[in-house]
Amino acid sequence: MTKNSTSVAHKRVFLFAAAFNHFSGGASTLSAEARASMRDALGGKGAGLAEMTASGISVPPGLTIMTSVCREYYDSGKTLPPHLFDEVLAELADVETAVGRRLGDVADPLLLSVRSGAKFSMPGMMDTILNLGLNDATVEGLAAKLGERFALDSYRRFIQMFGNVVLELGKDEFEELLHEAKQSAGVETDAELAPDQLRALIASYKHLVRQRVGIDFPQDTHEQLRGAVEAVFRSWNNDRAIYYRNLNGIDHAIGTAVTVQAMVFGNLNERSGTGVCFTRNPSTGEPVLYGEYLLNAQGEDVVAGIRTPKPIARLAEEMPDSHAELLRTTAALEAAYFDVQDVEFTIESGRLYILQTRTGKRTAEAAVRIAVDLANEGVISRQTALTRVEPSQLNQLLLPSFAGEELAAAKMVGRHISTGLAASPGAAVGRIVFDPDEAAALGAAGEKVILVRIETCPDDIHGIVPAQGVVTARGGMTSHAAVVARGMGKPCVSGCEALKIDLAGQSFTVGGRVFRKDDVISINGSSGEIYAGAIPSTNIKLSQHFHTLLSWADDVRELGIRTNADTPDDAELARKFGAEGVGLCRTEHMFMSQERLPVVQKMILATNEGDRRAALAELLPLQRDDFAGIFRAMDGLPVTIRLLDPPLHEFLPKADKLKEEIAELRPLPGTAEAIAQKEALLLKIAELHESNPMMGLRGCRLGLLYPEINEMQVQAIFEAAIIVSSEGLTVLPEIMIPLVGVVEELQFAREVLERVAAETMRKGGVAVDYKFGTMIEVPRAALTADEIAAHAEFFSFGTNDLTQMTYGYSRDDAEGRFLQQYLDGVNVNGAKRKVLARNPFEVLDQGGVGKLMKIAVEGGRSTRPDLKIGICGEHGGEPSSIAFAGKVGLNYVSCSPYRVPVARLAAAQASISSTQERDK
Ligand code: ADP
Ligand code: MG
Ligand code: MG
Repeated sequence: MTKNSTSVAHKRVFLFAAAFNHFSGGASTLSAEARASMRDALGGKGAGLAEMTASGISVPPGLTIMTSVCREYYDSGKTLPPHLFDEVLAELADVETAVGRRLGDVADPLLLSVRSGAKFSMPGMMDTILNLGLNDATVEGLAAKLGERFALDSYRRFIQMFGNVVLELGKDEFEELLHEAKQSAGVETDAELAPDQLRALIASYKHLVRQRVGIDFPQDTHEQLRGAVEAVFRSWNNDRAIYYRNLNGIDHAIGTAVTVQAMVFGNLNERSGTGVCFTRNPSTGEPVLYGEYLLNAQGEDVVAGIRTPKPIARLAEEMPDSHAELLRTTAALEAAYFDVQDVEFTIESGRLYILQTRTGKRTAEAAVRIAVDLANEGVISRQTALTRVEPSQLNQLLLPSFAGEELAAAKMVGRHISTGLAASPGAAVGRIVFDPDEAAALGAAGEKVILVRIETCPDDIHGIVPAQGVVTARGGMTSHAAVVARGMGKPCVSGCEALKIDLAGQSFTVGGRVFRKDDVISINGSSGEIYAGAIPSTNIKLSQHFHTLLSWADDVRELGIRTNADTPDDAELARKFGAEGVGLCRTEHMFMSQERLPVVQKMILATNEGDRRAALAELLPLQRDDFAGIFRAMDGLPVTIRLLDPPLHEFLPKADKLKEEIAELRPLPGTAEAIAQKEALLLKIAELHESNPMMGLRGCRLGLLYPEINEMQVQAIFEAAIIVSSEGLTVLPEIMIPLVGVVEELQFAREVLERVAAETMRKGGVAVDYKFGTMIEVPRAALTADEIAAHAEFFSFGTNDLTQMTYGYSRDDAEGRFLQQYLDGVNVNGAKRKVLARNPFEVLDQGGVGKLMKIAVEGGRSTRPDLKIGICGEHGGEPSSIAFAGKVGLNYVSCSPYRVPVARLAAAQASISSTQERDK
């Protein structure tokens, strides 16, 4: 290999021609590094052609001008480096020898294609010129050898492409002349134009060039070649190429290579053709050759849409030998590149040529199947298979999506209403409902509804649960609605500011259109799009391949994967997706349901401990049943239950709403008691008011001031544990105390709760295996983790609050406001600059929050070496955050049920890459 890489390093032009093989051994013998440096130097297309040539695959000979020349071209103010053209001509001489024709030879001309190709595939973004080398003289030589009609058609195609790409004339100007020619000849397709008509068309093309550019169409073939090479370099910086690179994060500085290659002719006769194929079906992954072709056609004809291409299977009937050879060759290519290939081919008079091979793009479904199949076939290892699927792609497989054709049709007829943030993926259809109570009632009656809100707050949850999906006009990706919806795998479009919602009128206006309650809409939470009317959706069933891939992930991952689940249903679903326990059960969600809220409010309104305990006693059996259900679903697996966390005002109605209700009641008779009740609530709201509730009376602080709340919860947990373990199931409760910042908070809370636990177990006559631990979500807790670990058997990082408090950003306020501007860029002396590269509430901030986590892990384990540590919170389902969790030595991550498969795969990939790093 050394010989070859040096030949790449010291040259600017690289020859590929079977007769002059420049490096020994086939494509499959190249190391990954060698392959990568070939691609750097020759671009993906050039490297592929060189490797295929070396492997003995039939490729028309040619040469590649390296990407470094493109960089020189731009560095020197868009001029070709001196002597470059001499080097090109020197290598071209070998191409001419290999083919047995010469460029510009009047009797038997060599024709060339001049092709672009960067390191990263940019399909169709740059330019290619075909049939170069034709002029008024060579066209006659070609006509004598291969037929007049063919030669003339090739010439007019060349003038058209050269005119467009090199001379920068509009495509439509030529198309118009072609159209006129066909009309006056009374034919449908260009293939039907007779030689005389083609001659006239060529004359009109040349006339157009003279008129518009002021030169005669270049007859000198060297001048043609030089112009084409420069034009390809220029096309590196055309608008669509720049746009594509921005979109895909491709470096603008790397430049394109230019490949100059002998033409082969798919348009020579009926035993010729051109096509594109994938070695496996790119949308399902099915292992059959998949693609399209056209007989008697060249280049872009297949994609141009003028003639309908035929499926590749037809080639087996039309040209069985070529089909068989195509099967053999593409199979060899897949084996050499260890992955699905997207292959361009041309057949000339029955002989097959490969013109390009690259890694085939594929859907999530195909990616999973292909990875598993390739591993089972022994082409790649299981580990490699695991790295072939992007974890977040798995989301697509877990959610319903709109059927592609129906969606396209809806777009065509203008049913797209607006686009907000893609807050929680999936497709949903339902009637518009604005009121959460109504959504709950309709949902209970089995109606499909979409809850549309200006913004959501925690007490909307009962309306979100039964809805098919949620739309909000305000709020970001981590707004309450988005977090809750993602947790439930429910489609959500948030922050769709174009919707002007009129709650009183029960309607919204957008783009001049009015939508009313009960109108049906469709939302796509994966794209943020909202549509009028119903679009049918498809519910994808999880394949055997999916389960196989994830079982391989489980074999290699070191991190445990738990789920955030507040209900038995969630816990059951998460277990089906492979969760190994509950990492976070938020008990407050159990307080939010319609029938419980009044009891919770009674508890909050109580003015003495006795009344408070009475209200709590009503809640106790309800909580016990919830816990029992979750324990049953998680038989044999740990369940972490967080004691009450949010500030109490979240369980009370909004003051404005209460005041309105009171005003409505006042004139009515017999409402004195109801009014008094509401006024008491109002007083309580005023009493509980805090200017910064996120940093106020919540978490463990609540439990210390009102111990009876926590006592009730712990009693409910242990009573449930006793009931379920007496059913013969294994219960492993872990009780988690939130928002600890000082060790005393944990110590005192724990002393009270240990007493209640002991009493409950004694009464029940059953001992339950349990643990006490805490969340680490206040920076001070992370910094004093060594002290805290003395009283905690486990830590769970609450990365949402930890991020909020580490940055000092209030999550509820920052999103959609200054945080969005930080992410988009702020004005710095007239230039727009990003303050934050990523939203730290979505992707764990390793530099700051992560540093605190490391301190906490080290501190905690210095006191208690076997301390179990996990993450709960949004980050637990995000691949880069999962990798970080593995790196700092956490035992598990916990995420919403629908994220569990993503987390299993991401954790496996993290293990694989850390092993690879260790091995280096
Ligand atoms: P892109 O990068 O846009 O795919 P290509 O360089 O692959 O551009 O060229 C586009 C098409 O031109 C090819 O798919 C093929 O059909 C045709 N083509 C390119 N080079 C040749 C050649 N040497 N002989 C015949 N056709 C060619
Ligand atoms: Mg191509
Ligand atoms: Mg928290």
